[in-house]
Amino acid sequence: MTTSPLPPGGTIGILGGGQLGRMTAQAAARLGYRIHVFCPDRDSPTAQVTDRATVAPYDDVAALGQFAASVDVATYEFENIPHDTVKALSQWVPVRPGLKALSVCQDRLAEKNFISGLGISVAPYRPVPTPNALAEALAEIASPAVLKSTRMGYDGKAQAVIRDPEDVATARDRIGEQPAILEGFVEFESEISVIAVRGPDGAIACYPPVENRHRDHILSETIVPAALPEAQARTAMSIANDLIEALNVVGLLAVEMFHTADGRLLVNEMAPRPHNSGHWTLDACATSQFEQLVRAICGLPLGAVDRHADAVMTNLIGADVDAWRDLLAEPGARLHLYGKAEARPGRKMGHVTRLAPKSV
Ligand code: AMP
Repeated sequence: MTTSPLPPGGTIGILGGGQLGRMTAQAAARLGYRIHVFCPDRDSPTAQVTDRATVAPYDDVAALGQFAASVDVATYEFENIPHDTVKALSQWVPVRPGLKALSVCQDRLAEKNFISGLGISVAPYRPVPTPNALAEALAEIASPAVLKSTRMGYDGKAQAVIRDPEDVATARDRIGEQPAILEGFVEFESEISVIAVRGPDGAIACYPPVENRHRDHILSETIVPAALPEAQARTAMSIANDLIEALNVVGLLAVEMFHTADGRLLVNEMAPRPHNSGHWTLDACATSQFEQLVRAICGLPLGAVDRHADAVMTNLIGADVDAWRDLLAEPGARLHLYGKAEARPGRKMGHVTRLAPKSV
């Protein structure tokens, strides 16, 4: 892979137009890059802040070709971008992270196989390729267990917990005919994540582990730093380091893990893109996750991952965003809004970060 850097003034293409693309575009603009976003939706949060926008479906190869001709490097801001879109684009322009990270992270079974193949712990799991395979998988895993579709699952979508025999039919209905996996339910102490960044020269840096609290399966709060013993914090970072290297990612990899009361760390899932649990880095670090992504894909030196403050990041979901006036009036609260017109339930509308003096 070429390591010649793309200097400021170049154009970065982003597939996907959500808030992650928006914040990446803002970081890129700060460093003097132009952004061209490709997204099927008009007035996307990313397009509102970019130099150029292509509004076209992801399978519009002609539009992708024109997009490629106008950018120097491309990235994607969510991992459910169709594989074929990234494959087509990769013929014309470097797409970072590449196809390998995308195909592993798009499929929960491939992901679990990949992680456990490296000797890294995950919850016990069995493939459930058809609904008929569920009974056998349940006999092996035992309840409580979680049935998850292998694809297009995020924020707890397309998953169901099975605690009692009567939950089986509901879980089946929820997942339908899609291929799935059954995972043992982890009685975790906390959920943590580590965001790693890797440049084209192989340099890697990891932000410290943070704790994530969910409400209705959606990330509600990220607490920085995670309350972990030092040795476990180091282990969590070394797991993220090993995964980003093994996936040959140029860009970011977010690794979500369960931390158990007996001190184990089990990887739940990975995302090869900026992550909601890294939004705090905008306000508490010299280099945010978004700027790190820009640096990595452009072949610039990676930035520092140290934090200058402790932080609590709270998502503003649905009507939570109506509190914007109070949040602006709160001294020190750092409000980020994503420019979405309609505050539907479950929709991430913005976030607020509150800083405190650095503890450890
Ligand atoms: P996921 O879509 O895999 O990130 O799952 C969403 C949330 O569901 C996680 O953040 C956990 O809170 C919970 N969850 C998922 N898998 C498991 C599991 N195997 N055991 C316990 N909780 C889980």
